[in-house]
Amino acid sequence: MSLIEITEVRKSFGPNEVLKGINLDVEPGEVIAIIGKSGSGKSTLLRCINGLEMISGGSISVAGAQLLDDQLHLKTLRLKVGMIFQQFNLFPHLTVGGNVILSQTVVKKTAAKTAEAMARKMLDRVGLGHKFDAYPDELSGGQQQRVAIARALAMEPIALLCDEITSALDPELVAEVLAVVRELAAEGMTLLMVTHEMKFARDVCSRVVFMHQGRVHEIGPPGEVFSNPQTPELKQFLGVH
Ligand code: ADP
Ligand code: MG
Repeated sequence: MSLIEITEVRKSFGPNEVLKGINLDVEPGEVIAIIGKSGSGKSTLLRCINGLEMISGGSISVAGAQLLDDQLHLKTLRLKVGMIFQQFNLFPHLTVGGNVILSQTVVKKTAAKTAEAMARKMLDRVGLGHKFDAYPDELSGGQQQRVAIARALAMEPIALLCDEITSALDPELVAEVLAVVRELAAEGMTLLMVTHEMKFARDVCSRVVFMHQGRVHEIGPPGEVFSNPQTPELKQFLGVH
């Protein structure tokens, strides 16, 4: 059994079918890059996997539990699968530590002391233990994104979904965030990441998914997908002829 099983998943917004039958099985510890043009359905796919969007057809199961339409189930799913966005979405009026504590105490009902210990541990893990009492606006964008990663990790997810998490950063701040992701990958975290960082994808990912018009158009190890694209669409996307 795979950790995440995506079978014939469809998603429509009104008359607009955005996902047209996605199949993808993710093994534990796999790091998968999702690439493709804007509008190809990458974000929608991630949002469906952690239950932020309901699917219109097919099925998604995470660690053997089927994603069903009921609210209770969506809530449990969101607890199991972490997601990090392009915008860090930290609460500006809370300290860094407070941000990492909050979702644990509110969503997971973790006791305050335990949540604080976990927050310190995860902030250490992303190299920001010393910023526990700082406020988000005192941090660089790269540091804020690392806090967002620590916040997701504090929920002890079984997989992490990353949606263009370096796209809003100044170029000189991208590396520090990718270094954290690289470490998580090395530690065996299961990662699905929508990214434009092709070099990173080539170095770190086990497989690359190229999405085109709501479908998995090509999929394979990075060496194959990047060096030997099969379809004109992927060739065009990669700028090779
Ligand atoms: P990508 O992340 O690959 O750029 P998206 O998944 O964001 O693509 O979007 C795919 C398509 O779905 C786009 O045409 C977009 O306009 C549409 N879409 C995404 N979210 C919504 C929504 N909440 N309501 C209506 N249409 C949406
Ligand atoms: Mg997107």
